[in-house]
This record gives sequence, structure tokens and C-alpha cells, in this order.
Amino acid sequence: MMGRGARPGTVVSAVSAPAPAPPGVNADPLRSGGAEQAPTAAGIVVIDDQSPEASLLADFLRGAGYRRVATLSGCAFTVQALEEARPDLVLLDLGMTRADAFEVLRCMQADRVLRHVPVIVLAAQDELASRLHAFEVGAADFLVKPLDAGEFARRLRNALAAKAYRGQVTHTDPLTGLPNRESLLLLLDEALERALQCGTVGAVMQFGLDRFDQLGDALGPAVSDELLQAVSQRLLAGLRDSGVAGQASASSATAVLTRGSGDEFTVLLPVLEGADGAAVVAGRMIERMAAPFAVGGYEVFVSCRVGTAVFPRDSADKDMLLKQAGLARHCAGNVGRMSSRGFKFYTDELNAQSLQRLGVERELHHALERDEFRVYYQAKVDVASECLCGAEALVRWQHPWRGLLDPGEFIAVAEDAGLIVRLGEWVLREAMRQTAAWQRSGLSIPQVAVNVSSQQLQRAELYDEVREALGAAGLGGSALCLELTESAIIDSGAQVTGTLEAIKRLGVQLSLDDFGTGYSSLTYLRRFPIDEIKIDRSFVSDCDSNADSSAIAAAIISMAHALGLRVVTEGVETAEQLEVMRDSRADALQGYLFARPLSADDFGALLAMALPKTPGGAATPLPRAGG
Ligand code: C2E
Ligand code: CA
Ligand code: CA
Repeated sequence: MMGRGARPGTVVSAVSAPAPAPPGVNADPLRSGGAEQAPTAAGIVVIDDQSPEASLLADFLRGAGYRRVATLSGCAFTVQALEEARPDLVLLDLGMTRADAFEVLRCMQADRVLRHVPVIVLAAQDELASRLHAFEVGAADFLVKPLDAGEFARRLRNALAAKAYRGQVTHTDPLTGLPNRESLLLLLDEALERALQCGTVGAVMQFGLDRFDQLGDALGPAVSDELLQAVSQRLLAGLRDSGVAGQASASSATAVLTRGSGDEFTVLLPVLEGADGAAVVAGRMIERMAAPFAVGGYEVFVSCRVGTAVFPRDSADKDMLLKQAGLARHCAGNVGRMSSRGFKFYTDELNAQSLQRLGVERELHHALERDEFRVYYQAKVDVASECLCGAEALVRWQHPWRGLLDPGEFIAVAEDAGLIVRLGEWVLREAMRQTAAWQRSGLSIPQVAVNVSSQQLQRAELYDEVREALGAAGLGGSALCLELTESAIIDSGAQVTGTLEAIKRLGVQLSLDDFGTGYSSLTYLRRFPIDEIKIDRSFVSDCDSNADSSAIAAAIISMAHALGLRVVTEGVETAEQLEVMRDSRADALQGYLFARPLSADDFGALLAMALPKTPGGAATPLPRAGG
């Protein structure tokens, strides 16, 4: 490919190895994550149809230290053939007789990958028209033969440096300096290819923080960015701890940490001894997150989840693998400061579950419009008199073909899909409508309790919804009690306290549900205008056989009384449990011993039996189950 007519060998004289790359220049920024690397690792493809000249030029390049040099005859050029050679730079002879160099340039420009590869055009003559045309169709540089070895070497180096810089910019996440998602996709392609060829195993691990959006809202964008930088440093340290090394190594077999958008980090483990290796790596990374982060003057605790997909076992398709790892992450429990459940492998079962969840979610969207929800009512019973003192409204889904579904089958999905707010509002209005209807027919139930999810509580609109539900039914606030969970109020800000105080001013009572399952701090609760606590069923279920449980229940009850709170115990199923609760001085109870949740009609019948027959008359104690 030397100048036509010129004697090969005289054209590129004074061959010298290219000077080392300037600092920051990196021929393969993906793998090294920005670390310096000799440009001689760059892949160069010579396209020419004069093969003796092409091989001479190739020899020159090898002599200059470039280790990956290939030649491609112009007439054998296809986009695929060139892509397979993975060039970092192309030397293209303009004077080919059996192929059109400009056409090669046009094809490269039209290709998603090849358009980023710089092309140096080599011409026999310096014609302005050809030069302009070459630049027009995408050439990076234009050299006239015979070539001066010194100039050639430097032009080559500059073109590679420019490409490396562009690569670094397009493949690096500016916030953390980690390879970005585009890099991940390229590396994953490579890793998959190798796994299939060599029979090795690798893994993709997706890592995310719990409730990062909420955290971000609270901290503001600058501090969230600082937090993400600190998280990336800890994750890198975790990778190093686990012995798979950080991303600063140039070997394509080492682990790479990359960042997608927001709090999404992905680790590629290209080669693993076995799938279990991924669990070790995840464990180390999770460990590193346990200590609080000091950012923007705050001390921030974060919990995280990691989901892993193993290739080629789970899939040999990169998009599918990323989806699988994401799904596993979503299904992993969160890692609180005290537990380590936040890691999960993808499995087909997980996929089946998620498909089922998706199906439920789709159906839930229609269920409200199709009026498929029902409200059931469970009696609240006064412990001393065993008479009915109220009810809890519990939602059910009358599914078109699966029958009557308990909340356990759909509440969590409704929460994930953000449907719980509409559903909760519907339950509230329906429970109030029914309460008023009973009242009109002479069945004045003292109070009905409605469950409020954490998402409902975070919205200031809750106050208006409560007021409107009461107003529409023509009821006073004392007819309603709202059941809130500890976790919902514990993380809430001043705005939630304000909403609760406003709701209380309507005369509505507030109850703390599932007490004993969370922080269970009674002193903390004094911040909130609570009237009642409900001791969780798990406490009650073993209190007749376990002395500790009954002692704890008694202590909770006496402390709650000291704070002026009423105590309801849930899940009382046996006469023994009732006696323990009576001895512990619980005020009221709910449980199968007296009544299961009943449809509005059945509960109406129970009310007719239990409520006083005349105003001021005596109520009838509820019969015990089986008695
Ligand atoms: P929860 O608020 O703790 O409701 C009490 C649950 O305990 C009810 O289950 C009730 O049927 C059950 N239960 C009552 N007594 C006994 C007993 O003696 N033994 C046993 N084994 N269980 C008893 P359910 O109706 O399946 O509701 C489950 C959960 O679903 C509720 O727990 C509540 O967290 C949620 N939920 C129900 N309705 C709504 C709603 O309208 N909105 C929201 N956000 N959540 C709701
Ligand atoms: Ca409840
Ligand atoms: Ca409960």
C-alpha cells in the first residue's frame, strides 16, 4: 500500500515505536475504567486491495509496537467483517481498484459501532477534491504517500488518543467516574461471548438503595450526588474485599462496577468459579453499606438490595439478564441494619411469581371500576363485658373467577402499583356509608375502624378525604377510627403529624396497628396524637403457653395505660388467651374466638343480635366460637 511506483521499504523510513501515550490517554477505556494503558494494544485494520503493500504496512505497524494489526482486502469488506476485527482505527487506501474507498467510509458511517472508529485515508496524490470528499464522508485524517514514518506514527497516535478520549466521555458516568450503562452493555456482550465459547460462568449483579427517591427528596440533589459518590466508593471497596479486584485492572476477566441512572449500580462478574461466588461478592458489598454515610453534614443510614442473574444459565441474552437481575433485586428483602436478607438470585420461580403479580396488578386496575371490592367487618369486643364495642373494616376482592380474595393476595401489589391510595379511599367511603346505613336502620355501632396505608398517610389530602367521607355519610368524626402502622408514622415528617392533628380535630380516633412488630417505642409515640394501640396477633398467639410473651404483653399494656392509651389485642382465638388478656387488663380484643370478619349483611345480623334493643338498654355479650 505504499506509494504506487515507490519502492516498498523506502516509503516508511526511520521506523520508531510510537511514543508512550500522553497521560489520560487510554486505548481501551472500557476495561481499564480510565487507567492509563499503552496505545499499542489498540486494534488497527488496514483496508487495501494490494495485499503485498497492505502486509508491508501491517509489518511496519507491528514493528512500531501495535500488537493487534489485521488486514482486510477491499473486495472482502463488509460491515460485519470489519466489526469482527474490532478496530480502534482503520487505515483505508483510497486507490483501491476492486473496491470504492468512499463507499467503505459511507458504510462505516451508517453503522452504529463503526461510525465511532477513526479512519485515516491514505492517498497516492494530494488532490483537494478527494481530500474534501474523504472528510465529507467521515474520514478523520488524510495522508499522502509516500508516508513519513515520524509523521505517520504521530498522526496515528493522535487519532487513537482522540478516540480514547471520546470513548472515555461516552462510556463514563460523570458523577462517579465509573463505566456507564453503555460500557456495561459492551462488556456484557464480550463476557457472554466468552462464556459461551469457553464454557465459563459469569454473573450480573444489580444493586440499589431502598427508598432512594424519598431519600433524595429529603437530602436535595447536591447531597444525594455526594451520597451516590460515597456509595460507589464503598461498593468498589466491597469488590476489592471479595478478591475479585476493582475495575482498575485491564483484564477482561475482572469484575467491573458500573453505574446506570439514579441509585442503580451494576457489577459484572465476567468469570466466576461457581454461581455461589456472586453471593460472596454481594455479601461483602452489603457489609460495606452498614456504617452510616456522612454527607452534607448529615449522618445517613442506607439499606440496599442486590439481585443476581447468572450467565449463561439464566440467559445468554444481555437485555434479559439485566431484567432478571433487576427482578431478583426487586424481590430481595431490604437489608436493614440488623438483617442480611437483601440478596437474591434470579430463578424461574421468581419470574413466575412476578408474572402472577403483574397479572394481579393489571386486574386490580379494573377491579375498582368493576366494583369488585367488598368491605368485611370484624367485631371489636370489650374484654370486661364481652359485648361488641366496634368493628374493623377489612377489604376483600370478589375476583371474577378466583373467588373471594383476602388482602394478603393483593394489598402489597396495590401498594407497589400505587393503587392503594384509591383503594383505601374507597374502603373509607364505603365503610362510612355502611355505618350510616346501619344507623338509619337502628343499628348504631359505636365506631368503625379503617386501615390507612403508609402511602395514604404521606398525602396531605387524607384530611379532606376523611372529612368528605364523614360528610357524605352524614356522620360525626367519633364514628371513625383510623388504624395506622408504626412504620408508616415513624419515618414521617412534621407534615404527617400536622395531618393527623387536623384529623383528630374532626373527632376521629387514631389507633396504632400491629404494635410489637416494629420499634415499639411507647415514649416515641407520645409525639403522635394516638388514642389506642393494637397489640399484634403474634404476641397474643403464644401468650397462653409462653410466660415471657404474656409478661411482655402485660408490661406493654400497663405502660400504655400509664400514657392514657386504650389497648386492643388482636387474634384472640382461645378462652385461655382471653383470660391472659383479661389478667393483663387489655381493654378490647378482636379474634376468631368471638367473630371472624363478616360480610356487611352477616355483620348487620350480628349487630342486630348484639346491640341494645332499646336506647339505654343492655347489650348482649357475644357468644364464643363453638360455645
Ligand atoms: P390487620 O389490620 O392486622 O387486620 C387483622 C387481620 O387479622 C385480618 O386479616 C383479620 O382477619 C385477622 N384476624 C383477626 N382475628 C384473627 C384471629 O383470631 N386469628 C387469626 N389467625 N387472624 C385473625 P385480613 O382481613 O386478612 O387482613 C390482613 C391485613 O390486610 C390487615 O391486617 C391489614 O393490614 C390489611 N388490610 C385489610 N384491609 C385493608 C384496607 O382496607 N386498607 C389497607 N391499607 N390494608 C388493609
Ligand atoms: Ca388493622
Ligand atoms: Ca393488626
